Amino acid sequence: MRDVRCDKCGKPAVTTFRTYRISLCEACYPRFYEALVRRSIKRHCILRENERVLIAVSGGKDSVALAHVLKKINDFNWSLEMLHINLGTGEYSDRAEKVVKELSEMIEMPLLTVNLADFGFTIKDARMRKRCAACGTAKRYIMNRTARMHGFDVVVTGHTSDDIAAFALKNIVGGNISWILKFKPRAESFAESVVTKARPLFERTEEENRLYVSAENLPLLEDRCPFAPHRDDWKDIVREIERRKTGFTQNFVRGIAKLASEASSEETIGERGVCGVCSVCGEVSSSDVCAFCKLRARIVRDAGGKMWRRMMP
Ligand SMILES: [Zn+2]
Ligand SMILES: [Zn+2]
Repeated sequence: MRDVRCDKCGKPAVTTFRTYRISLCEACYPRFYEALVRRSIKRHCILRENERVLIAVSGGKDSVALAHVLKKINDFNWSLEMLHINLGTGEYSDRAEKVVKELSEMIEMPLLTVNLADFGFTIKDARMRKRCAACGTAKRYIMNRTARMHGFDVVVTGHTSDDIAAFALKNIVGGNISWILKFKPRAESFAESVVTKARPLFERTEEENRLYVSAENLPLLEDRCPFAPHRDDWKDIVREIERRKTGFTQNFVRGIAKLASEASSEETIGERGVCGVCSVCGEVSSSDVCAFCKLRARIVRDAGGKMWRRMMP
């Protein structure tokens, strides 16, 4: 960037945020970012003092930024640990695990690693077109189960404002307004076996996270998942609106969070349906068999019975 100076210290700036009307250098940017995350957490009560927090870390920029920033702003006396799920997509998953291990050593934060293979299948085994959906189901299930088994109060993920805005738009267009009423930066547990979930980066953009990871020199998995679609139209649409209307993404996700918190608790409980348990694994489920066990059964069946059946770890 030519001739743009940092508004804090006057050195050459690396970035200008149109949303905040501020230019920052590489040294001042991380402190600014940390202050923004701290403000989100306090304002929206995303995490409370003294909580045991499990951070889901894939090795991508958003979750790497999340683990580091929580460690940096921790005067809330949180007990922080990382969870990495090895999804068994071959070389890509091995590289991801290596990055997360490196981060764990660098920032001195304990790491729990869970292998999807220990549940009897991997994402590579899934022959369906919707591999990403399978991945999401597996991650949500393992995150909740691991957090509960290890006694954590809350499990946090690196979802960004871009992720949430794209998902919300897609759901609004599809007529699925109920999703919006469920979105909260902090979703409290609604059953004993369900751990509270929180998204401390819901007001941050991918670009802000990318800059933070780069300015702090953190280990990062650069390549994309081999099974991910090449482009995400909804995210492209969100970026295009943002380009033309600065601040759209953040205002949109804040609006959604406000709508959700104003929705009556009756509606919210109604949306979750009757809270039962899965007849296969005993985890919480709104139907007889939970989404994870259905997925596993389908993958094992598609593999022509060659796969083994194992007990749950
Ligand atoms: Zn500066
Ligand atoms: Zn189940």
